[in-house]
Amino acid sequence: MKFKTRCWNCGAEHDMVEDVGQAPDNGDISFCFDCGAFAIFDDTFPDAIRKPTPSEKFKINHDEELARVLIAWQNVMRRKQKR
Ligand SMILES: [Zn+2]
Repeated sequence: MKFKTRCWNCGAEHDMVEDVGQAPDNGDISFCFDCGAFAIFDDTFPDAIRKPTPSEKFKINHDEELARVLIAWQNVMRRKQKR
């Protein structure tokens, strides 16, 4: 299954391909590789993702796994800028 999301922060469109045959659930966390913003999957929104609420943002900011995702992304971006 394939669907499109649009980042609430930078407007980048992402083609999401879910090869395990399962779409993300509403409330799942998404990450924009263009701007580094976290988002929440919500199929009631036209872009399929939305900005995290303050309580969701708090959870994201205190999640070690997501912090590692962000650090890894920042490292990739830094390497790209050097080229
Ligand atoms: Zn973005």
